[in-house]
Order: sequence, then structure tokens, then C-alpha cells
Amino acid sequence: MTDLDPDEFRRLGHAVVDWVAGYREGIGDLPVLPHVEPGWVRGELPTGLPEEPQPLDAMLGDVDRVVVPASTHWQSPNYFGYFPANASLHSLLGDLLSGGLGAQGMLWSTSPACTELEQVLLDGLADALGLDPAFTFAGGGGGSIQDSASSAALVALLAALHRANPEWQETGVRGDERVYVTAETHSSLAKAVRVAGLGSRALRIVEPSPGTLAMSPAALAAAMRADVAAGLRPVLVCPTIGTTGTGAVDPVRQIAVAAAEHGAWVHVDAAWAGVVALCPEHRDLFDGVELVDSFCTDAHKWLLTAFDASLLWVRDAAALPAALSITPEYLRNAATESGAVVDYRDWQVPLGRRFRALKLWAVVHGAGLSGLREHLRGHIRMAADLESWIAADPGFELAAPRSLALLCLRVRAGSPEQDDAATRAVMDRINASGAAMLTHTVIDGRFAIRVAIGSVGTRPEHVARLWELLRKEAAAA
Ligand SMILES: *Cc1c(COP(=O)(O)O)cnc(C)c1O
Repeated sequence: MTDLDPDEFRRLGHAVVDWVAGYREGIGDLPVLPHVEPGWVRGELPTGLPEEPQPLDAMLGDVDRVVVPASTHWQSPNYFGYFPANASLHSLLGDLLSGGLGAQGMLWSTSPACTELEQVLLDGLADALGLDPAFTFAGGGGGSIQDSASSAALVALLAALHRANPEWQETGVRGDERVYVTAETHSSLAKAVRVAGLGSRALRIVEPSPGTLAMSPAALAAAMRADVAAGLRPVLVCPTIGTTGTGAVDPVRQIAVAAAEHGAWVHVDAAWAGVVALCPEHRDLFDGVELVDSFCTDAHKWLLTAFDASLLWVRDAAALPAALSITPEYLRNAATESGAVVDYRDWQVPLGRRFRALKLWAVVHGAGLSGLREHLRGHIRMAADLESWIAADPGFELAAPRSLALLCLRVRAGSPEQDDAATRAVMDRINASGAAMLTHTVIDGRFAIRVAIGSVGTRPEHVARLWELLRKEAAAA
């Protein structure tokens, strides 16, 4: 037998678990960003593949020697870049179970537990997030786990195209479809438009309300009316709750009302921020979500679940299958034909699917909803502390209002040009030091450091140390 026998797996599996546990114990001491030149990793690895079996120890040796020093330590408590990519140890246990079962959950009939556990979890999470019951299976809608928010946006667009013109399956897109976003919308919407064959001319960039980065409902209504008057068809509007750059929130209720006038599908992209709906004190951000067609949030950003687990709910459980289902003979089965089951292959682009619900279950089970809320609230408190330190220090300013656990800040050095240069220098020096990892954005043409607090292990002392680093480097800049 070429595979390990289970006894050998037990022994080696323990060694790998020990490796992961040791890595996580020491991760706070590793430089967050690697300092390697392009090609270094390739140069360090043996060129030929082994002809004969090799011991696991040798591979783990190469992981320590080559992989770790050339990795960005996304799970570091000093990681404040992009958005967090929580890979909690809870979720790793669930992922191991999923791999152990090794099931293909493309149809209900190919492994019923894979489908029904996902349904139960997504119904339960819809309730915990305060989503309208219409988004649950009992309410006629339902949720699914996609690989990413990008895929969620793509399938929402395909469902929207289908609803606007069922002939689409036969004739393809007509070319008159229009999709409404803002300049702050994630690029995955532009990509979805391209993948769907609409071309970038289909993308309408709606202006923000004055003095904000949030979509103007009046500008949206005007843009849609003008398009309709010109013989074009609004098919999809995508408001964002928590934009990637600054965490801005589009006014979903007014957007949904404007979209309803033209029957356009409304897809809410809340990839990062959506999970805070678990905390009732943040539900005001989600006002109007009960009116939309689909809602997406990533469990793999801030909800402790290892990539990939993007949660997508739709109000109409038939919408995605109507757009995407194609049934060749070899996929026919009695359960599908009975109409009594969900076949998740019809909710996504690929046929095959992993048993992702297990890692999400391991998280919800292991942390409890109370633990999830505490995880989110802790980071939001840390961001509020950092915000207050920035506000009290004349050497810094907030470049945008704090959004939950995301802050955009700028060093004050004199003129706008000097501020931008100093801000960039501070970020580069901190990143080069390895003590923390930060990324940037541009707001109204000006450079700003983003501090996204949310790594699983980030505690107040890590944020306090980041503030010390910022002050030290700003003084030197
Ligand atoms: C991160 C992000 C995405 C993309 O998320 P993936 O799950 O990595 O595809 C989409 N929208 C917003 C608002 C995001 O912040």
C-alpha cells in the first residue's frame, strides 16, 4: 500500500500537530514579514523530486529551514495588514476531520451529512447574525459556504442575470445589463462582471454622498433612471458593509429601495465586517439587509475559521440553482429528483466541494457564540483605544473615521506632501523591522496606513506595542 497505514499516520500526525502547536506558541517572536529575495525559496529547495519515499522528518526540516523564514506570519498577533485571515486552532481541528472523511459534497446524495450540516449551521448563523428569517431554508431562502467572497459575488451576479432575463442561458448576455458599485467596492465585483462576459462598460461607478465614502442613494437612483431611459437594464447593485479600504458602510436600506424600482438584484458584500452582526450593538450597520437578495460575509477573515469559508445567504433558495444547474445523466439521482434535498453544486461554479462546514462547526462549537462575540468585541475595544491615543497625539491624525476594528491613520509632519512621505516611511520602517505588519490605502489622493486589528492572538499589549512603534518611527521620520 502506498498510503500510510493508520498506525503510522497516528504517529506522524502527532508529530505534525506538535509542529503546528510549537509554531503557534512561538509565532509572536517571529518577524511578521519575511526578508527574502525573489527566487530564494526555489534556490533552497532540491530541484529533482524524490524517486524513493522520504521520511517526514526530512520534509519538516525543510519547512523549518525554508518555508518558515520565507512566510508572512498571518497568524502573528503583530499582524495588522489587509484584513485578518483567522485560522484558529479550533478550525484546524475541523479541517482535519474534513480531510479525514475525504467526502465530496457536490450533491446531497454524494454525502448527506456534508450538505445538511452546512444547512443547519447556516440557518443557525443567520439567526445569530439577526438576518431576516427569509434567508433561512425554513424561510424559503438559505445559505451556503463558498470558497471566497469573490465567488459569492460572481454567483450572485449570475443569479441576477438569470432573473433579469431567463433567455440568458440560451442566448448569453445581451450587452445592455448594468451593475452598480462605488469606487470603494471590492475589485471582485469588477472581476465578476468581466467573468460573466458583460465587459467593464456594464459597471457603473456611483458617486458617494458628499463628504463620505458611502454610496449616494440619490446618485444611484439617478444613474439607474438614466440607464433605463437609455434602454439599458439595471441587473445588480452591490452595496458594501465595511469597504476594504476604510471600512465605509453603504446605506443598504435606501439602496435597496432605489434598486427595487427597477427589479435589480441587491447583493450585500460584507466580507470583512458582516460577522459583527453577531453583536447586537452593531446591528445598526445592517439596517435594510432584510430587503436585499443576497448577503455575504467571510468566516475566514475575522471569524476564526481557516480559509476558505465565505458565507453566502440568498432570499430565494431556487435562485442559484435556476441560474447554474446543468444535469448530465451521471449526476441524476432519486434524491435530487424528489425535490426534497439541496444539491450545493448548483449554488457554486465548481462541481466538487469540500466539507467546509466541519471547520465552521468546530469554531462555533469550540468558542460558542459568546466566545465569537468576545473575539470581535475585544478587537473593537483595542481599535477604540488606539483611536483615542491617535486623537490625543498631535503627531498623528485619523485619515478616516474608525470602522469597527479598522483604523486609517496618517503621520503629521507639515504639508500634505510631507505627511504622506512621513506616513509611508513609518510604515516601511515598521514592516522592515519585522515587529509588526501594516498595509496602506489612498484616501482622497492621500496616503494612509491601515491598521486592521483582528488576528486570533492579538491582545491589548500587541496594540500598545504597535502604538509605541508608530510613535518611535514617526519621531525618526
Ligand atoms: C476581502 C474582501 C473581499 C474578497 O474576499 P475573498 O473572500 O478573499 O474573495 C470582497 N469584498 C470585501 C469588502 C472584502 O473586504
